[in-house]
Amino acid sequence: EQIEETPRQRPGLLSRALGRPEAPRRVMDDAMLESLEELLIQADMGVETSLKVAARLAEGRFGKRLSTAEIQQALSAEVSAIIEPVSKPLPLYAKKPQVVLVVGVNGSGKTTTIGKLASQFRAAGKKVVIAAGDTFRAAAVEQLQIWGERAGVPVMTAAQGSDPASLAFDAMTKAEEDGADLLMIDTAGRLQNRADLMEELAKIVRVIRKKDPDAPHNTLLVLDATTGQNALSQVETFQKIADVTGLVMTKLDGTAKGGVLVALADRFGLPIHAIGVGEQIDDLAPFDPDEFAKALTG
Ligand code: GDP
Repeated sequence: EQIEETPRQRPGLLSRALGRPEAPRRVMDDAMLESLEELLIQADMGVETSLKVAARLAEGRFGKRLSTAEIQQALSAEVSAIIEPVSKPLPLYAKKPQVVLVVGVNGSGKTTTIGKLASQFRAAGKKVVIAAGDTFRAAAVEQLQIWGERAGVPVMTAAQGSDPASLAFDAMTKAEEDGADLLMIDTAGRLQNRADLMEELAKIVRVIRKKDPDAPHNTLLVLDATTGQNALSQVETFQKIADVTGLVMTKLDGTAKGGVLVALADRFGLPIHAIGVGEQIDDLAPFDPDEFAKALTG
């Protein structure tokens, strides 16, 4: 067994660019800005957003002599200014049951996120029902059942390959009968056949609207942070096939690509309701922009 004497430190963007906090003050010049841009791009913030952040950083500071701490603070503030407006918890309305449709490509963390959310809402005293709407993937249904058990929340399932819309309708009925506060509907994530998926999601929406014309009250898109810039095209795709109202970004633990969240906020302005920071039930955190910006730029 290997025992580490000192914890390994992962130096943040700034310490890699400018040296340690105690490094001498340096003049902010083109070379410094270019190397900062490069680091932001490496952190997967995207070219457009990286250039924008660097330009804002230069305003009023170009040619000045700055300490690493001052640059770090300014960079963190610029990043925070972009992501602060999108930090919003999942809105809960008085209406019962509130329907949350959960979309995203397979593997993005939909099942896990539904389990974590169910657990959080249940801990907050809410009554929750889950519908396993990806009826084609037996493994997905099984996983969701496991998460339902962990969270102490009932999971509605249907025979393999059966119509997800009819399951959604039955789940609405159950949620109403149970007096549930929240119904979370998992969906298939097969982007290979976009037209089919679009039709499937549209049908789910049509059917649940027979029960409640305002449903789904939230359509949550789950994105995997480790896919980097790919997450941007996933948002574009899902916006075409569903009325996405908010995002959850998963797998932000142990990835150097977290900057994509900043690019997403900058480009789409969709609310980010929570972030996934691990595989356990409690590993869903509120999205705290300041903390995120500091961790990214520290
Ligand atoms: P789905 O296909 O979209 O339903 O994705 P799953 O919920 O099954 O997740 C796919 C994989 O990602 C599983 O191995 C999860 O444990 C893992 N996962 C989900 N969210 C997170 C997270 O926030 N952090 C980490 N490290 N892994 C996650």
